[in-house]
Amino acid sequence: MPLPRARRASRTGPLTLDLAVLPLINTVTFPHAVTPLYVSREQSLRAVEAATAADAHLLVVAQRDGEQELVGPDDLYEIGVEADIGRVLKMPDGHTSVLVQGLRRVRVVGYEQQEPYLIARVEPLSDEIEKTPQVEALTRAVLALFEKTVKASKSLPEEAYIAAMNVDEPGWLADLVAGALDVPVARRQEILQALDPEERLQRVSVLLSKELDILELQNRIHSQVQQEVDKGQREYFLREQMRAIQKELGESDPSARDVADLQQKLEEQELPAAVKERAEVELRRLAAMPPASPEVGMVRTYVDWLLTLPWSKATDDHLDIKAAARTLDENHYGLPKVKERILEYLAVRKLAPQMRSPILCFVGPPGVGKTSLGKSIAQSMGRNFARVSMGGVHDEAEIRGHRRTYIGALPGRVLQTMRTAATVNPLFMLDEVDKIGSDFRGDPSAALLEVLDPEQNHAFSDHYLEVPYDLSRVLFVCTANMIDPVPPALRDRMEIIELPGYAEDEKLHIAGRFLVPRQLAEHGLTAEQLTFGDDALRTIIREYTHEAGVRSLEREIGAICRKAARRITEGRRPPRTVTTHLLRTYLGPARFSYGLAEEHDEVGVATGVAVTSAGGDLITCEVALLEGKGNVILTGQLGEVMRESAQAALSYARSRAGALGLDPRFYETRDVHVHLPAGAVPKDGPSAGITMATALISALTRRPVRRDVAMTGEITLRGRVLEIGGFKEKALAAHRAGLKTFLAPARNRKDLPDIPKDVQRDLTIVFVEHMDEVLPLALAAATEPPAEGKALKVLAGT
Ligand code: ADP
Repeated sequence: MPLPRARRASRTGPLTLDLAVLPLINTVTFPHAVTPLYVSREQSLRAVEAATAADAHLLVVAQRDGEQELVGPDDLYEIGVEADIGRVLKMPDGHTSVLVQGLRRVRVVGYEQQEPYLIARVEPLSDEIEKTPQVEALTRAVLALFEKTVKASKSLPEEAYIAAMNVDEPGWLADLVAGALDVPVARRQEILQALDPEERLQRVSVLLSKELDILELQNRIHSQVQQEVDKGQREYFLREQMRAIQKELGESDPSARDVADLQQKLEEQELPAAVKERAEVELRRLAAMPPASPEVGMVRTYVDWLLTLPWSKATDDHLDIKAAARTLDENHYGLPKVKERILEYLAVRKLAPQMRSPILCFVGPPGVGKTSLGKSIAQSMGRNFARVSMGGVHDEAEIRGHRRTYIGALPGRVLQTMRTAATVNPLFMLDEVDKIGSDFRGDPSAALLEVLDPEQNHAFSDHYLEVPYDLSRVLFVCTANMIDPVPPALRDRMEIIELPGYAEDEKLHIAGRFLVPRQLAEHGLTAEQLTFGDDALRTIIREYTHEAGVRSLEREIGAICRKAARRITEGRRPPRTVTTHLLRTYLGPARFSYGLAEEHDEVGVATGVAVTSAGGDLITCEVALLEGKGNVILTGQLGEVMRESAQAALSYARSRAGALGLDPRFYETRDVHVHLPAGAVPKDGPSAGITMATALISALTRRPVRRDVAMTGEITLRGRVLEIGGFKEKALAAHRAGLKTFLAPARNRKDLPDIPKDVQRDLTIVFVEHMDEVLPLALAAATEPPAEGKALKVLAGT
């Protein structure tokens, strides 16, 4: 093959040359640039060899597709560079390294040969340009941009800019800058193909500003990252230094020590396998965490919970029924039925420990000894005692805890209480199960059911703990003030034991035997220094407290002890015996008036009794007759059942109008207004039936109701009086208020033995079957003519 020679294509046409072709993959070289090229393809090697042998130049030109192995004329761009071959080195890996120096741009006008290598006919292109002010300005702009780029870039050396500064041909400058920038092949080829140097400068300046933007952004990100890294490193160095200093001082690293302590605790504890494994995993995580990580505290608390909950430690039960009876008697006055039920319950547990015994539930007003009974049971069985209130629990999470993903999450109340109990088999008292609520946050009673259910509670799941916890050895005892609000599913599992409250004499005994000695001891006093007269105690009960239990009584006794103790320490000698007279000095004026609430017998006002969460209490029923058309107005937040019993009372009165001497059409001209104060307290239940009927008939007949009579009983349309619940609470409330007669349904006669003798002595309990028996006992003689015509106006004011 003849070697490439320069020749003129035609007499007038430009000079053309034949050059061996070196196709470029993924790069473009520029005139004036010196570029090392790696050559491996046969086609290319042959071209280089031929050119070298003939001491001729090469055409280096980029191929359009970088992937293509064997290239033909169509695969190459039209514009390339005529290049001089410098050093050719054979490399150990079989490649050849060829150093080429670009000389000038050329355009391929045709191909002379394709095999075994390409020979192209090219025409050189001129780079000359007139240096207009426009070109000068562009040149300077490119130089300035390039200077900035070199400064911002890590890969461009300072020399690149110096070289650019010293080039005075605008086209060459553009080539140099384009060659230095790291831009894709297509862009580089575009620059190569920009034959007009001015256009080329313009393109390069666009490339440069893009490059500069990217570099600046990169630098900003980099410096942010650097700042973070610097901060982390600074902390790391400081910590390392601190560690080194501690080591020098012979102190160990606190966080490592902490982990080691926990590790040791873990090894000492007898934990279920799953729990141990879990604790180990968490401890390993803890050890690997940097001490400053916010997670450290969370993991530590968690491990701490795993280690401090009781998992195996238990007390031995000693179920000696006689001893238990003794303990109950020692700590509690009276309550024979309650004690008996408790002992029976314990006996069954002793005989059939495997049997699923129901959960004991003490129901009664505050201060009747529910908690202290629970404590006595625990004491007699040799179990630890723990207690948690369910009052106001609305959220399932309060029982089961929050998942650990919550900030500040902890186990629920059940496990928190187990931790204080410290054994796996405490007597666990769930207080106020009647005050549990349910709303959108989930139903806590469902969670409580799981706690109490022996089928499920061996693997109680707490959201925080994550591992199941065994509650099956716990002896649960619940308490409630009232049984009605307890969710039925819970009630089903319970054995209800009622504690209705104490009569005055019982309170007196409890005070004398238990409360006074305990309060004296708590205040560091002896019986020689202070005693309480029975009269004084009775006055405290009557005039300073108003309760079914003895909690306020104990508090008042405590208050007196405190005052006496102070006087003793001040060197004054207080009187040894607390008398009624002294109470005014110690406790101030009486807080409740004992005796009858009303000064006179009144028309249209009758006294009933109701069971409340504080035991029994009096409720007054007022009836007023107003001019109207037979409407019944009921106020005082009465429930549905109570409204119906008011209607029943009215119908009874209408049906008995003749016998009662009333105008049978009385209701046609009047409205009946029934009101039960206190208006803000919701009331319900049928047992105020006879009270409402009495007040109504009193208002109609103008016969006043005797103020010393209290009554309770459901009423039917025909006037029969039906049985009620809470007989004892109600009788005690009537007695507490100092009333003389208590009218109750005949069906409740069976409850009479529950009423202490002294109460029966003071309070005449009359059992009635019919409303006809109630009226003669409850109503006094008429003082005014029956309500008719003009009397109505007066009545409207009652
Ligand atoms: P509850 O749990 O029903 O609200 P507590 O058990 O707290 O009531 O009782 C309040 C106080 O009254 C306690 O100091 C308790 O010892 C005392 N108490 C209650 N009933 C009796 C009783 N029958 N005998 C002796 N003390 C009693």
